[in-house]
Amino acid sequence: MHEVGSGFSSDLLGGRLTMRLKDIGEFGFIDRIRNGCLIRNTSVIKGIGDDCCVFKTSPGLVTLFTTDMLVEKIHFIRQAITPYKLGRKSVAVNISDIAAMGGTPREAVVSIAIPDTLEVEYVDAVYDGMKSIAKEFDVNLLGGDTTASPEHLVVNIALVGEALEDEILYRSGAGAGDVVFLTGTVGSSAAGLDIILAKRAFIEEGPLLDAHHDPRPHVKAGRIIAGLKMASALIDVSDGVAADLGHICRESGVGAIIEETSIPMTNLFRRYCDHFELDPLHLALHVGEDYVLLGTVPGENVDTLAAALKSAGCEFFAIGIIAAATGLRLSGADGSLRTIRPGGWDHFR
Ligand code: ADP
Ligand code: MG
Repeated sequence: MHEVGSGFSSDLLGGRLTMRLKDIGEFGFIDRIRNGCLIRNTSVIKGIGDDCCVFKTSPGLVTLFTTDMLVEKIHFIRQAITPYKLGRKSVAVNISDIAAMGGTPREAVVSIAIPDTLEVEYVDAVYDGMKSIAKEFDVNLLGGDTTASPEHLVVNIALVGEALEDEILYRSGAGAGDVVFLTGTVGSSAAGLDIILAKRAFIEEGPLLDAHHDPRPHVKAGRIIAGLKMASALIDVSDGVAADLGHICRESGVGAIIEETSIPMTNLFRRYCDHFELDPLHLALHVGEDYVLLGTVPGENVDTLAAALKSAGCEFFAIGIIAAATGLRLSGADGSLRTIRPGGWDHFR
């Protein structure tokens, strides 16, 4: 394995790491990544190349605006993720926040701080990843900022989305008696992270690593849920089900009871946990980064919502119920009820 300035195995990039940023300069770099950033030009008046980008927002819709940053050694380990997937993930986590409001992602800007030891081909691959997911979700990359970084790579995306004002779903709308649901399985991303951090070898690791490195934001499910106007609250699972349900509960002034046996997990994830004697429930509830949607819906709307999601090829899993009393509780298969902390990922703990 040939280690290069990026500290990244050039084997994973086809061995083409040759050019330094000092060879082309900041503006040479911007020219280089510019191509392929415009996915949909109907809304765009000016993309990359001026002091600001200029775009039109759709009449009758309101604007959603979010930003999320990935910092080396905090959010990713450069030696563990390919630059292509790093680019995809940096955009995906932002798209997921727009999905979590029931919106449609539209225009993005990219800020990147690059250590001068990193080769241009590495950064090209980061942008190839960003452009590929931007294309899948019809998002334009309209600008950004480029700086040097003393040591670590930092990628920040800001993303504009749009929605009908009366369709937007907030964290604050959950009411006692509402059913808590997920739009996908949870835990696999935490297993992928565990493979990396504990340096484990697992024959079927591919899909688990991908769940962590290349999550697929649930925009389609978010649009269906918002369009039906039947759900009461929505969030994306970035910090873990317990933490994110905790966010809904706090903003809504309620509590929740989750059913242990209803938490959806893939068979592969269960096999992984069995193999390494890990508690699947802990990974699924307290680690996060699954980027599925977690919502609440009044009981009378559950069947309609579940059917609409399933007929569109999305998933719906009822996992519990909102309670008037605050706090999170977990009901076990044996009928036990225990309090769980709404804990998950917290950068400063
Ligand atoms: P200014 O000095 O006015 O902030 P810059 O020289 O930083 O402008 O950027 C020039 C153009 O290149 C702008 O359109 C900006 O949005 C775009 N740009 C700069 N860096 C990036 C990047 N990393 N990704 C995409 N676009 C970028
Ligand atoms: Mg300027």
